[in-house]
Amino acid sequence: MTDYDMPEPFAADAARRVMARCDILAAISETPGQLTRTYLSREHLLANKQVGEWMRSAGMRVWQDSVGNICGRYEGQQEDLPAILLGSHLDTVRNAGRYDGMLGVLTAIELVHFLHQRQLRLPRAIEVIGFADEEGTRFGIALLGSRGITGTWPPDWLGRKDEEGIDVAQAMTRAGLDPALILRAKRDAKDFAAYLELHIEQGPCLEQVGTALGVVTAINGARRLNCRFAGVAGHAGTVPMPLRKDALSAAARWIAQIDDLTVARGPQMVATVGTLQCLPGAVNVIPGEVKLTLDVRGPDSEELQELVTALLGLAGTIASRRGIGFSAEEFYHIGATPCDAILQAKLAESLCRIQGSSPRLPSGAGHDAIALAECWPVGMLFIRCRRGISHHPDELVAEADVAVALRAYFDAVSALASTMGDIGASLKAG
Ligand SMILES: [Zn+2]
Repeated sequence: MTDYDMPEPFAADAARRVMARCDILAAISETPGQLTRTYLSREHLLANKQVGEWMRSAGMRVWQDSVGNICGRYEGQQEDLPAILLGSHLDTVRNAGRYDGMLGVLTAIELVHFLHQRQLRLPRAIEVIGFADEEGTRFGIALLGSRGITGTWPPDWLGRKDEEGIDVAQAMTRAGLDPALILRAKRDAKDFAAYLELHIEQGPCLEQVGTALGVVTAINGARRLNCRFAGVAGHAGTVPMPLRKDALSAAARWIAQIDDLTVARGPQMVATVGTLQCLPGAVNVIPGEVKLTLDVRGPDSEELQELVTALLGLAGTIASRRGIGFSAEEFYHIGATPCDAILQAKLAESLCRIQGSSPRLPSGAGHDAIALAECWPVGMLFIRCRRGISHHPDELVAEADVAVALRAYFDAVSALASTMGDIGASLKAG
């Protein structure tokens, strides 16, 4: 054991504290009996205050930045080296679970608490951020906290309104922030060597392989399209089958093949037809028009593009064989965010040491790392959650898994922070 190993008894205590603190934060809610905490609400500011106190008692210098992120810094031996940034978000969806986001902030604080208690300094500083808005619940725009850190707020965000007609600028003023000072939250590229985040998996894969932790390979990119089959409506009794231009029949053939085509591209690609509208929609009328949506996701932007192209090509072929039209229009597009290869390797080493194996998996959900990856190498650890449930009050992680996570997370962070020289540069180069 070195100075930089977190002993199991400490991890067990810390895990208990993390679970208790998740409960405390879950009680800071806008809706009685449920957990809802949205950007710049009174409860968000209270949560920041509480988390700030925990950061302070873990030995950190604490401040709230100009977009409402709560930030803490624990100095290293050398002040001029880029810090390791750890974090996750403190905002929630409506009627949320209590671990999504909060767990990543509270575990990061425990790593610092461990160092502080032992009066240890890593060669470089650790910063922890509780991001102000990742979910986008209040204003319908997400990643406001992490985009504050990267200094990439689009100009129109200040005017975005919530359900009550309060815009972001007004909400900031009410929360004691100055909308003119948003750019003060921006951090220099040289401030951080890397960003790491621990988050619940929000899916069933780790539970299925039977391990507490996995290394995230990428945050999936997503494409969403509105699609339309245009046939000819007609009398359900009088038009013989060979003469029909049935839009629904064509759409059904396509949908039935989407699964096979997607599965053939590997286990990490997913495609979903989530809505379907059949017109004119009468029992005795041949469907003349079908409108549907296609949602396709995967960890590699190029493979995603290839799958979308293949799926649309297939739809065109099916439609033209029947003499009907097919069109598709993309209305949402976000590229995949690959996690840094060197950070993945470091995290995998720690997982192998602590839990004996290191499964890798992509993230199907978005995270603050999407924004931060524009400026710094990012790495993520997933912790299994019961039945993969998230964004729901039944969300649950096991305390024993949190203890394992703390030891593995600390192992990885201390190894990274102890790598001398500018790991930021070598990570970027890698
Ligand atoms: Zn989250």
